[in-house]
Amino acid sequence: MVVPDVCVEWWDKWAPRLKDVFHLHTWHIKVYWETLEECCIAECAADPDYHRASITIDPMKIVDEDHFIHVLRHEMLHIFHAETQLVRRQWERLLGRKDSRVLREALDHASERLVYRIERMFDLGLRMSPRELAEKGELDEEGPIVPSSTTE
Ligand SMILES: [Zn+2]
Repeated sequence: MVVPDVCVEWWDKWAPRLKDVFHLHTWHIKVYWETLEECCIAECAADPDYHRASITIDPMKIVDEDHFIHVLRHEMLHIFHAETQLVRRQWERLLGRKDSRVLREALDHASERLVYRIERMFDLGLRMSPRELAEKGELDEEGPIVPSSTTE
């Protein structure tokens, strides 16, 4: 795959900044550029024991720089709460990998919901007072929170 230079430039520009924002200084995060399934723009794998993570991005699905930052923020938020993966390892040891599939799916779903809700908080503005935040919610007519289907 030929990765557009602009994607590499955006990674070099924004990944260190987002690592700083989420206090991931001790993490080694490597990027891979690959074609992903149709519904997937990017994905992340993180090892909380060694603070190593990989983010795989399908560069052909990136629309522009703001979209890239949005996708990168989403994947960094997965790393931000990667310690939940330790729970997965424990139950896989107890139940075996095959029998823990249902629990793994539940954890993946919970992880996506958590990331979506954190993104929503950022998008609404974290510097709001509790009153300002509550008033924003009253004005929000978007309906129930639905996980984004564009990233995993
Ligand atoms: Zn996700």
